[in-house]
Amino acid sequence: MKIENLVRPNILSLKPYSSARDEFALEGKESNELIFLDANEFPYENGINRYPDPLQQKLKRKICTKLGGNISNLLIGNGSDEIIDLLLRAFCNPGKDALIISSPSYGMYQVLAQINHVKLIDVPLNQNFEMDTDAIINAAKDETVKVIFICSPNNPTGQVFPKKEILKILTNTHKLVLIDEAYIQFSDKESMVQELNNYPNLVVLQTLSKLFGMAGLRLGLCWASKVLINLLNNLKLPYNVNTLSQEKAIELLDKINIKQRKEENSLERNKMNSFLETLTWVEKVYPSDANFILFRCDNAPSRYLQLLKKGIVVRNRSQQLHCENCLRISIGTSAQNQKIQKLLKNF
Ligand SMILES: *Cc1c(COP(=O)(O)O)cnc(C)c1O
Repeated sequence: MKIENLVRPNILSLKPYSSARDEFALEGKESNELIFLDANEFPYENGINRYPDPLQQKLKRKICTKLGGNISNLLIGNGSDEIIDLLLRAFCNPGKDALIISSPSYGMYQVLAQINHVKLIDVPLNQNFEMDTDAIINAAKDETVKVIFICSPNNPTGQVFPKKEILKILTNTHKLVLIDEAYIQFSDKESMVQELNNYPNLVVLQTLSKLFGMAGLRLGLCWASKVLINLLNNLKLPYNVNTLSQEKAIELLDKINIKQRKEENSLERNKMNSFLETLTWVEKVYPSDANFILFRCDNAPSRYLQLLKKGIVVRNRSQQLHCENCLRISIGTSAQNQKIQKLLKNF
């Protein structure tokens, strides 16, 4: 399939904004030898008087060194949310097209669909939070469906969906399939990034907000075919990632031990999981591949308030499909988790 066939015609024919620095070749000169009088910037250097690199080349190189992958398959967004918004604008004609989600899932999909006036088709998970692959493939036959969202590990339920099922959707629908892997680094299961070369309709979303500890910098990663990345580069605002975020991320990525963070999370998650199972007022603890646990209790709103009174803020997910009386708790530090367990014992 050609992914271009799914793109909105006005986006396909877009002539992107050409920023000042795009328009010259360095011709062998180092940039510190040049006098930049092309962008109406403040001429005295203070670290941020220059516009940022629109393509974040240095940061991308660092990310690819750290995580693997090719720069030509990567776009960086101002958070994953910006990337989801870009994809919706690239593929979905407002007031006409649709996307598929599987409830319960991440709330931003619905918000961004609404903002872009894109119809939401829900093919819900079953009671055990399993995906209905055949129903998704069937629903995707509708001509107006352009994008299928799969959040894996899923928020708020925590589990990775079987790769076999995802591949079945990729093979049997000629639609864009977006896998949101915000939590994949916490999981033992493999990322779908490995499959990029095999499926032109695959987009994998990752983020520096969770395991990488940079939620405040707003850095989302979009992995896709070169064709799609080029297209999104034309569409994005030129300076979508600011200089300070680019520099700070490069600095922090150097120090991060991914494996160690993953192992620490798994250890704490296992402890929290076993602990929750001992509580008489907890009815079910869902297994998690992420850095949070969803659990069902006797009365979520009152347990939520009880926790809040003790200074512990969790998320009440009771309003989401199949999540009656469910709370979602993030995995904290070992010290935080011990403190919480001490408090919860007395409930
Ligand atoms: C936290 C999270 C993200 C990350 O969003 P950012 O905008 O990159 O901070 C993306 N998807 C899901 C499902 C999440 O839970």
